[in-house]
Amino acid sequence: MNPYRNIRWFFLALGLVAVIGLTGMNVYSLYALHDNAVKNSVDNQKRQLFEFTNQVRNRIRQPVRHFRRLDMEKLKKSLAQSGSISGEISEKMTEYGPDHMFSGIYLAAPECKACDVYGAPLWQFSHHTGQFDITTEYSPKVSDGLTMARTRMKTLVSDYRWTTRIIFDTHNSMAVALINPAEREIVGYLIFLIDRDFLVTQYLEPKLRETFGTGPESGIIIWLHDWTKNEVLAATHPDIAYSYQIVDFIQNFPDLLNDWNLKARFTKNPDISASRASLVRNLLVLAGAVTLLIGALIFMFLTAQRERSLAQRQALFLANVTHELKTPLSVILAAGENLQDGRITDTSRLKSYGSHIYQESVRLHSMIDRLLDVARTGTKSLTHRKKTIDPAGYIRDYMKKKERFLKAGGFVTELHIEQELPEISVDPQDLTSIFDNLIDNAVKYSPFEKHLSIKARQHRDNVVIEFHDRGIGIPRDALKYLFDKFFRVEDPRTTHSRGHGLGLAIVKDLVTKNNGAIRVSSTPDSGSVFIVYFPGVPTSSPSNGSITTEQETVAAETAPNETNRHVF
Ligand code: ADP
Repeated sequence: MNPYRNIRWFFLALGLVAVIGLTGMNVYSLYALHDNAVKNSVDNQKRQLFEFTNQVRNRIRQPVRHFRRLDMEKLKKSLAQSGSISGEISEKMTEYGPDHMFSGIYLAAPECKACDVYGAPLWQFSHHTGQFDITTEYSPKVSDGLTMARTRMKTLVSDYRWTTRIIFDTHNSMAVALINPAEREIVGYLIFLIDRDFLVTQYLEPKLRETFGTGPESGIIIWLHDWTKNEVLAATHPDIAYSYQIVDFIQNFPDLLNDWNLKARFTKNPDISASRASLVRNLLVLAGAVTLLIGALIFMFLTAQRERSLAQRQALFLANVTHELKTPLSVILAAGENLQDGRITDTSRLKSYGSHIYQESVRLHSMIDRLLDVARTGTKSLTHRKKTIDPAGYIRDYMKKKERFLKAGGFVTELHIEQELPEISVDPQDLTSIFDNLIDNAVKYSPFEKHLSIKARQHRDNVVIEFHDRGIGIPRDALKYLFDKFFRVEDPRTTHSRGHGLGLAIVKDLVTKNNGAIRVSSTPDSGSVFIVYFPGVPTSSPSNGSITTEQETVAAETAPNETNRHVF
């Protein structure tokens, strides 16, 4: 086991973990940033809601400011009289002016009977006369407010240090206890009867809409809700129905309007939308960058693996080649030595030595040719000398030369050559190399049924030469690497056969250099077909030179269903 292999895997894993870790951290930070933006926006809206209720409170309490500096002694005396009350308190009332928020303003003595008996006389302020006049006609809400204020003040007055104290009776009335802090006694009560309609329709609803907006961009929907009656009194978006399930936040009014509160739902506002858009943009950029990074990492790793395996195969190739070159050389050397001694005079032995030397020289020659071919692949060789040749004649001559060799190997050969094939323009040396390699392979990889058939035909403007064998075939997965340098199929049946995975790489290179194409289809255990295409030389009418279309058509015509196919 190569230790570097483990180290490479380790660093690849480390790199991937680092990239994934960094990505995770970035995604987390981006989401945290977005969540923060959403939270800030929501917090801001909550603050606005609280501020709103404070403003409402201040607006309703507005008249009270006028009574803080009242002379309580004087007021006490005037309340002791019966009849109309003028003086400082009436002046302050006139100064404050009419306020539609209140439908009536009443004054009561601390021990007023109206608290206990509805209809008992009280003072009511009239802006018309500018004074408080006795009345017995008032709403029961006035008595209720008064009763509540008196009860509340009983416990509070002993340690109260201010001159006024406000007590709200839900949305009905506001009672102001007028206090003489020196004596710790209550001088009287002012009751402001709240005009509910005005408060809701003229004040709260327009103010809500003005403050929070009514469009979809407002980012918030608010309902003014009477929770005791489950009734919506006003809303910023009247077309959106209220439901408790969609409420995100509830804001109560501080110590007033006790039965009412503001129910809010937070929606997307422009800030949140911008933050979301920026989140999506950042995530996309991140995803792109990470994909690139991981892609580059894996690409570098795979390339390194491939380079390494190529280097290994090259080293093996060199070792084998050296060995194979040495074998015929040693035979030639030994035979030459024996001849040189002059000890061999017998003609038949002389002939045998001569034939050894000749055969081994031929083997050496063919090996050197093969090496030269390897050297030429992948380079733009200047040694290509194209000639116009007749493919039918060439194939017949070639097969005649090869006949003995094939017969000796037990091969049955078939030739099917169409009449009147067009000529092709190729380097004859390259064509011989192509034939040599393909036929050698057919021989090498047909251990059982030794059958070779060569077909040549015309298809459109191309000459198609097919090499059929009935050998071991090629597995489907191997097809795409078949023409790579140093690629060999790992099959126990082929281990004995000599080879370095260079033959088909050479063939492909030579075919391409001669403007041709090559395609393979194979069925494991049944045989393989290598199909070579060369453009025919136009005679009278010009060719359209389309090889691709033709290849596809041929594939459809010849390939059996379960056959593995590949085109190069
Ligand atoms: P090699 O020197 O190994 O024959 P090639 O490049 O000629 O190198 O072939 C590559 C591999 O393709 C071979 O190792 C063999 O497994 C497979 N191959 C090539 N031709 C055939 C064939 N006619 N039948 C089966 N397998 C073949």
